[in-house]
Amino acid sequence: MTKDIYDITIIGSGPAGLFSAFYAGLREMKTKILEGNPELGGKVKVYPQKMVWDVGGVKPVTGQQLIDDSIEQALTFDPAVELNTIVTGISKDDDGIFNIHTESKTVHYSRTVIVAIGGSGIISHQKIDVPSAESYEGKGLHYTVFDVKDFDNKDVLVSGGGPTAVDWGNDLAPNARSLTLIYRGDKVRALEADITRMQNNGVRMITNTEIVDFNGHNEVSSVKLYNNKTGEHYEQEYDAVLINHGYNKDNLLFKENKIDIELVDNFYIPASSTGETKVEGVYAAGDCVKYPGKVHLIAGAYQDAVNAVNNAKLFIQPDAHKTAEVSSHNHILDEKNMKYMYSEETLKNQ
Ligand SMILES: Cc1cc2nc3c(=O)[nH]c(=O)nc-3n(C[C@H](O)[C@H](O)[C@H](O)COP(=O)(O)OP(=O)(O)OC[C@H]3O[C@@H](n4cnc5c(N)ncnc54)[C@H](O)[C@@H]3O)c2cc1C
Repeated sequence: MTKDIYDITIIGSGPAGLFSAFYAGLREMKTKILEGNPELGGKVKVYPQKMVWDVGGVKPVTGQQLIDDSIEQALTFDPAVELNTIVTGISKDDDGIFNIHTESKTVHYSRTVIVAIGGSGIISHQKIDVPSAESYEGKGLHYTVFDVKDFDNKDVLVSGGGPTAVDWGNDLAPNARSLTLIYRGDKVRALEADITRMQNNGVRMITNTEIVDFNGHNEVSSVKLYNNKTGEHYEQEYDAVLINHGYNKDNLLFKENKIDIELVDNFYIPASSTGETKVEGVYAAGDCVKYPGKVHLIAGAYQDAVNAVNNAKLFIQPDAHKTAEVSSHNHILDEKNMKYMYSEETLKNQ
């Protein structure tokens, strides 16, 4: 059987992976994205309803919209996309082709690789470990806010003692019927100003308190609580619960790794400021990279993506241009430009 060899395989589909896919298309490279999660988007999917302001030239936008637009851009040149594909290692065969190994034991073949796995590998919300939690998921029990309206006019319980829990307390309180924040420890870990704002928003804060279980017919209607200081057990009516207990981080890529890259601080790939790792042909982009001056923001991921793709292109084709032609003058986009210029939406906005 002949191997289907790609020019470039991108591991991870956060902002760095998605922009790498677009840019690789601009450079006419046969491109594949491998993503461990069931959907594209990366860490921004953790904060879909938060407004993002610091992406150059983009109006304030929700995380969800930003990712939807980034996915559309990434798919411009029809890269192959494989979801639910957790990469566990990379090796190089005798023909100089990278073999990318996955948890499900499939192997993907590529001339170059861009590692864009983020600063924490595959992340998932830390779920609450109480008997009925699974049955109430999406039925009053939430791990993130997909739509703030899910909390409007509800008695909301936020569980968590970090800055994100406090942040949600402040965002949801104005439209909630009531909002209570509980934390198992004795001191909430957030900026003093945010805690004060939350208190001014009428949020009730209770420390040393944990959720023991949920109650309700089909949907959560009350929560069983436990005060770990006094030993008191009690039940309180709530019809929306938001758990913010942090994230599980899983860096599986280097589990079976057969190439010579040592991580820094368990998660970071040492690379040059243009994404070159110790292994020629393997580049790194986005939050997973560490180099002096690295910007761990979406904006920083875009610069890394361009550098990594340009290096990958030159690795395969040393006489290629060092960079792609700018998009405004790149003929590869001519046909697509015509479609945009004469689309109903463009003509309507003129
Ligand atoms: C709460 C929060 C708010 C933020 N707000 C902002 C903001 O307002 N502005 C801003 O610029 N930045 C913000 N950031 C930071 C921003 O989200 C990151 O800088 C950005 O997501 C990094 O992109 P990335 O592509 O490098 O990694 P990620 O977005 O983390 O994507 C990595 C992808 O790789 C996948 N992956 C990991 N390991 C594997 C594997 N072994 N196999 C297959 N796939 C794998 C993951 O599933 C994930 O999809 C925020 C971050 C957080 C947590």
